Amino acid sequence: MYNPKSLKAEEFIDHQEVLDTLEYAEQNKNNVELIDSIIEKAKLRKGLDHREASVLLACEIPEKIEELYALAEQIKKDFYGNRIVMFAPLYLSNYCVNGCVYCPYHLKNKKIARKKLTQEEIVKEVTALQDMGHKRLAIEAGEDPVNNPIEYILESINTIYSIKHKNGAIRRVNVNIAATTVENYRKLKEAGIGTYILFQETYHKESYEKLHPTGPKHDYAYHTEAMDRAMEGGIDDVGLGVLFGLELYKYEFAALLMHAEHLEAVHGVGPHTISVPRIKRADDIDPDVFDNGIDDDTFAKLCALIRVCVPYTGMIISTRESQAVREKVIRLGVSQISGASRTSVGGYTEEIRPTDSEQFDVSDQRTLDEVVHWLMEMGYIPSFCTACYREGRTGDRFMTLLKAGEIQNCCHPNALMTLKEYLMDYASEDTRAIGEKLIEAELENIPREKVKQIAAERLKKIEEGIRDFRF
Ligand code: SAM
Repeated sequence: MYNPKSLKAEEFIDHQEVLDTLEYAEQNKNNVELIDSIIEKAKLRKGLDHREASVLLACEIPEKIEELYALAEQIKKDFYGNRIVMFAPLYLSNYCVNGCVYCPYHLKNKKIARKKLTQEEIVKEVTALQDMGHKRLAIEAGEDPVNNPIEYILESINTIYSIKHKNGAIRRVNVNIAATTVENYRKLKEAGIGTYILFQETYHKESYEKLHPTGPKHDYAYHTEAMDRAMEGGIDDVGLGVLFGLELYKYEFAALLMHAEHLEAVHGVGPHTISVPRIKRADDIDPDVFDNGIDDDTFAKLCALIRVCVPYTGMIISTRESQAVREKVIRLGVSQISGASRTSVGGYTEEIRPTDSEQFDVSDQRTLDEVVHWLMEMGYIPSFCTACYREGRTGDRFMTLLKAGEIQNCCHPNALMTLKEYLMDYASEDTRAIGEKLIEAELENIPREKVKQIAAERLKKIEEGIRDFRF
């Protein structure tokens, strides 16, 4: 039944194949010879399949885990350098017709204040986000064909892209909305979205149906096959994710990789990003009622493994995680983080936000300036770059360049230039001082003379106030 090339969810995420994989992993978790050969294969930086990956996940031999962490760190450095891409979520509407039992937006929750931003309110929210320095947003909405139809989402994207406040601009809008039709994905593509993100929540069909008892999201196949429809609709960059805590993490991990293998097998390009959210406390949601929560060490191991198994896929971590956890997993492979996030509709503008409308509690409550400062102190370059998608480097074009190690030649200088813009336009004095030093040192390290020269010229222009580059 298992067939990675099939377009049927139950065949590319075949339940029996997941169970067989977990059994194989359990049987081999102390098979040092096999584990060594898998680690050797991983060192080739071409990834691992779900069976190999599951053996490493099951393995508890401390030296092997150390080796895995060291490799994850090295792969992260080789492919992503010390750049961390910054973004913020923007909640458009919390109207929702689904019954997801872990999400406070569920239809039966009468306590939560329902709110849908008007286009004027979106202008206020986006202006506030621009004033922090954000250039990249992920828009979020509940599923509600009457309140949040695709036309509303499209109009909102259009509004977001049109807002130019001082030196601000949102240059990339990623979209996290419910599974939809090929036709709607085509419309999103035409609206100029970056990545289409949809979390699977859980790959375990039986649990999925129990956790989504009512509403259109109940349909496991429709949800699981969404990325194929998105790609059919012309969206090159799709972002996968599992909500850890709902089901057994070993099951989710094997299935997540099977999903990535399926996209690669059918569309010739794997997921652009993988998100690793963990379930959080929220209005009328107690995360402790879900028995599959994972501790911080297991979470770190999962992040390291994702880095090693799909080296070409960006990894996203949100403010659901604390500063301490973020610090640990950024080193192991995370390439994108959110900063200063608000998970309520109108969260960035006091007069819009109703009380009690948050989707979940945020652990990392720092401002964007504080997050940027913290990253730079650890030696990372916070990047506000959006050039790839603006230059058409998406889907397999992006992947081909990344696989050839070429992406570094544009990402690194672009990261420095967008950081420079941030420092000039939005940073506190302290943050600017650290940033200027970091940019100077990093500029020196650009290996190609020509690239270094162009970067230096552009940095100078940014300092003079010129902002019309396509980052
Ligand atoms: N409504 C869209 C859908 O159905 O896919 C997605 C938007 S929703 C705002 C974004 C994600 O938040 C969900 O996919 C879910 O994984 C996550 N989420 C929901 N409740 C959560 C909770 N209590 N803690 C952490 N994450 C949660």
